[in-house]
Amino acid sequence: MIPGARLVLLGRQGAGKGTQCVRLSRHYVVPHISTGDMLRAAVREGTEFGRKAKDIMDSGDLVSDEIMVGIVDERLDRDDTRHRGYILDGFPRTVGQAELLAKITATDPLDLVIDLVVPTDVVLERLASRRVCTDCGANYSVDTPPKYGWVCDNCGGDVVQRADDTPEAIQKRLDLYERETAPLIAWYADRDLLAEVDGLGSAEEVTGRLVEAIDLRRRSGASPSS
Ligand code: ADP
Repeated sequence: MIPGARLVLLGRQGAGKGTQCVRLSRHYVVPHISTGDMLRAAVREGTEFGRKAKDIMDSGDLVSDEIMVGIVDERLDRDDTRHRGYILDGFPRTVGQAELLAKITATDPLDLVIDLVVPTDVVLERLASRRVCTDCGANYSVDTPPKYGWVCDNCGGDVVQRADDTPEAIQKRLDLYERETAPLIAWYADRDLLAEVDGLGSAEEVTGRLVEAIDLRRRSGASPSS
């Protein structure tokens, strides 16, 4: 396995992007960049920006493209990402963000964009039972809780239901996904950068499929769908 990759993971809320990105970032030894986690960290720090972001996130709306692109541009300019690459989770989320990302990465373009496909009825069930660590972002569910109470196995942080995992905010995020983010699938397919991967099954099975799609692309440099 050659370390390093420049990847984007797309997929509906609850498709398993967060879980799979953690696994892929260990496999390829690249940083996992989750814009949702970065925004939640700003909320915890209690900055003025964090307070504004909290209101937007809790209601299920999107933070503006301008702000998001600024945050991501700064993160991609650090040594680790410049040398080894990254896995982007939650970005881009609009065609505007994808266009700006293409400009930022013009000299070192993306290797592959993966659409992690999970049907809506399954994601609705997963989101209703999802619980997350407030410190490290690790994902659990009411069916697979941490070992001791609602305390994170990895870091000892509190494991809770996310403030935006209410039925109203979930519906709004899924609607916004269809309207703003789903068009990116065709956008990346047109640019020969897209692979679709089935997100159903165990976490290990899904990681296996993702690694296969990524390695195929890296070996051949060819279109993953060809
Ligand atoms: P989910 O995919 O379950 O909605 P995330 O953790 O990726 O969760 O994002 C949580 C929230 O953070 C989003 O609902 C949105 O308000 C904000 N956010 C994250 N990434 C972006 C982005 N690229 N553009 C705009 N808003 C974003």
